[in-house]
Amino acid sequence: MTTKLLQFVNEKQSMPEKRITKKRLKDFKEIYKQFDEKEAKKQASRCSQCGIPFCQVHCPVQNNIPDWLKLAAENRLKEAYEVSQSTNNFPEICGSICPQDRLCEGNCVIEKGFESVTIGRVEKHITDTAWEKGWVKPVNPPIENNKSIGIIGAGPAGMAAAEQLRKKGYQIEIYDRYDRAGGLMIYGIPNFKLEKYVVERRTQILKKGGIVFHQNFEVGKTKSFDHLRKKHNAILIATGVYKARDLDIPGVKLPNVFSALDFLITSNRKGLGDDVPNFDNGKLNAEKKNVVVVGGGDTAMDCVRTAVRQGAIRVICLYRRNKENMPGSMREVSHAEEEGVEFNWLSTPVNIFGNKQVETIEVAKVKLGKPDTSGRDTPKILVNGISKLKVDMVIKALGFDPEPLPKLFNYPLLKVTQWGTIKVDHKTMMTSEPGIFAAGDIVRGGSLVVWAIKDGRDAAESINNYLSNNASEENLKQSVSV
Ligand code: FAD
Ligand code: SF4
Ligand code: SF4
Repeated sequence: MTTKLLQFVNEKQSMPEKRITKKRLKDFKEIYKQFDEKEAKKQASRCSQCGIPFCQVHCPVQNNIPDWLKLAAENRLKEAYEVSQSTNNFPEICGSICPQDRLCEGNCVIEKGFESVTIGRVEKHITDTAWEKGWVKPVNPPIENNKSIGIIGAGPAGMAAAEQLRKKGYQIEIYDRYDRAGGLMIYGIPNFKLEKYVVERRTQILKKGGIVFHQNFEVGKTKSFDHLRKKHNAILIATGVYKARDLDIPGVKLPNVFSALDFLITSNRKGLGDDVPNFDNGKLNAEKKNVVVVGGGDTAMDCVRTAVRQGAIRVICLYRRNKENMPGSMREVSHAEEEGVEFNWLSTPVNIFGNKQVETIEVAKVKLGKPDTSGRDTPKILVNGISKLKVDMVIKALGFDPEPLPKLFNYPLLKVTQWGTIKVDHKTMMTSEPGIFAAGDIVRGGSLVVWAIKDGRDAAESINNYLSNNASEENLKQSVSV
């Protein structure tokens, strides 16, 4: 079939239609509508099929983007889906929430003025169609393998590894301390970016493929790490990072100063229909409040946008650098601006005042100095630029650090880096202990879903090599029953 590609000169870049702001503030649903078939085809046909596709080079899972764009342009969506799912376990999720402007699309070589191919949304369209048409099938390994692998953490790293290993016939058990699988995809990322049914149907299909999920199972509490180590032939640790970085200013211990994740988990649980007393009693609910969010990353954007949807009176984001130096995705910032969030650039909190709870926050102006090692300009506080804001709720969104996991697991043999992440051999993802692997945020620090998927896939490959090359040994397993 011949299809005209290189249509970027004739066809304009377009994203799926966004729901109007007034309407989208009334609920937590995805803000983008879906591409219809015609538009997805048109957008895919804008690709110039580069010999060296920089989009692919900058996609963490090295998606074969030009191939599936060509197939989508030719309306061969089933084949496009086959190609797309061969490198990515959750393409519809990445298509929605990857910061494409920093990854594939940001590196698309279509000349300036023509704007990049909307790769993420075409990827989502392909896999959404696959779900609608029933092309997404549970894993059905051709042959069973009696070796078992224990995976700690049912986030994207753990789930991607589980699927890859199950394809090879291994017996997979995932242990997670939460009541639902999905990690931050279910409890961190808000619904308006990633609807929860999208994550839940992935969990269901993994279960149908024979992967066993143990929810409400906190390793280190429910059972010891050593217990799992003895039960399985290999272990993958994919526990993510959850320790919020704190603000070091007076008043930060006042009630009504919350961590971003407490705020977002509460909101996501409410959306999932759970009983959430801290939301219902108004404590972790922004309704009718003046809210200040401190931070400039994607988590901060999730908090400000959640607060406006909860009915806050006013939502202000304080960020110590300027817009150009923000670490988050510009697309997310522009959504927040459209939704009425106020941004105080070059501002940092220096004091929080209140009697029994937060009442005002003192904010200092900041001047940017020379770039630091990250390449971003260093902020310096200006003592004569102090102002006060009335506030009822402060949310700290300054990033996350790993919890002292090895201590929690009471397993001192696992080595950690100076940043508290688990030390691995980056070629094999194996920790300092043979047969124990690690993947995702617990290795890299707070990162992205697509990197967690990539790590999970790499770890799965290495676990398979390890178990195949050590076939005569009992690996980690000793006879213990859970
Ligand atoms: P996680 O997703 O954190 O999963 C780890 C799992 O391990 C959890 O389910 C946890 O319950 C479990 N666990 C931890 N300790 C134990 C234990 N002792 N026993 C049993 N289970 C345990 N990335 C994007 O690409 N796009 C985005 O838009 C985006 N938005 C984000 C918004 C927020 C608010 C946050 C916090 C993160 C966001 N991220 C985003 C980052 C992304 O969610 C993470 O990088 C990714 O989820 C990491 O995957 P993971 O599998 O390593 O860990
Ligand atoms: Fe782009 Fe993410 Fe899809 Fe890769 S996985 S093509 S980076 S949207
Ligand atoms: Fe197509 Fe852009 Fe990738 Fe080139 S860089 S193959 S034009 S999507």
